[in-house]
Amino acid sequence: MSKSDYYAVLEVDHNATPEDIKKAYRRLAIRYHPDKNKGDKQAEEKFKEVGEAYTVLSDPQKRSNYDRFGHAAPGVGDFGGFDFDLSDALRIFMEGGFSGFGGFGDIFGGGTRVSTRERIRRGSDLQIPLKLDLEDIAAGGTKKIKISRLKTCEQCSGSGAAPGSRPNVCGTCGGRGEVRQVTRSFLGQFVQTAPCPACAGTGEVISSKCPKCGGEGRYKGDVTLSVSIPAGVTTGNYLTLRGQGNAGLRGGPPGDAYVVVEEKQHELFERHGDDVIYRMLVSFPQAALGDDIDVPTLDGRARVTIPAGIQSGKVLRLKGKGIKHLNSAGIGDQLVMVNLYTPGKLSARERQLLEELAQSENLKPREEERKSFFRKVKDAFR
Ligand SMILES: [Zn+2]
Ligand SMILES: [Zn+2]
Repeated sequence: MSKSDYYAVLEVDHNATPEDIKKAYRRLAIRYHPDKNKGDKQAEEKFKEVGEAYTVLSDPQKRSNYDRFGHAAPGVGDFGGFDFDLSDALRIFMEGGFSGFGGFGDIFGGGTRVSTRERIRRGSDLQIPLKLDLEDIAAGGTKKIKISRLKTCEQCSGSGAAPGSRPNVCGTCGGRGEVRQVTRSFLGQFVQTAPCPACAGTGEVISSKCPKCGGEGRYKGDVTLSVSIPAGVTTGNYLTLRGQGNAGLRGGPPGDAYVVVEEKQHELFERHGDDVIYRMLVSFPQAALGDDIDVPTLDGRARVTIPAGIQSGKVLRLKGKGIKHLNSAGIGDQLVMVNLYTPGKLSARERQLLEELAQSENLKPREEERKSFFRKVKDAFR
């Protein structure tokens, strides 16, 4: 795929300031975010594009390389050896472009500004990759995932204070978690807020720390999450588990978890939208005489009737044996492609019989059949 100019993607000109780029990214990322455009593939593509453009243009080194060499610049297209995909775009969205905003809720809720104290206390979001078999995807269902995350400390109930003691309101910031700094310059006076240095922005001071969590109110541990997977998902689809990310600092609100689906390659089937393709080998006598053959399916086995005289390359359809549609009712099919099997070795008797058969004009394809064969099998999976 040819790439669009990163400046054009972000709708800024070439001398845009870092602030312009950030603003443009935020505006576009919110517009195209998958949470707001459920199932809209075009919006998803745009979301990925703006994420990729922002990754490059927000980094001074990458931007300068890009300005000089374009998309071929060293380090510019380097996204860990893979294409920039949806999970990258979501990560950029969570980490980069929106740091300091306090997460999704605030962006989409259109709500009030989050205080420094709340922002610092909120647990971070987690991105959890989930590999799924085609069988799991076809049926959907519940999956258990074991992950390591920050959990609320049960000894201090998340307060961070040792049993029998309590956190005190920070005397420096009065519990707000931020302090005002006044800067004077020839342009005038500026008031800026910064996280309180005395309490690191938490609004509280702990004199006696909880021995289990060291005053954090949380510690790293294993948890098992139960995830309900809708049938029909594919690589790059993700599920949002609100409040299932890392526990907040000293009782702050938890982050969210994003479970990102990765479809495993199947050893027998190939996915084609919501249909699955199975390539079946049949012998020449089976193809010529017809037969009933058992084939594997995503949920067991099914019987396929081979009509006498079937051509190699022909596709038979097992209705409803594919994958359920993700966003609509209905279910895909299993497409069974017939391929002629040729034995590697022949016995003397087999050779003799085949040599006799080879004399028969009826066993040779006629000229018009040779010509029409390609046309017949070319669109087999449409
Ligand atoms: Zn504790
Ligand atoms: Zn303070």
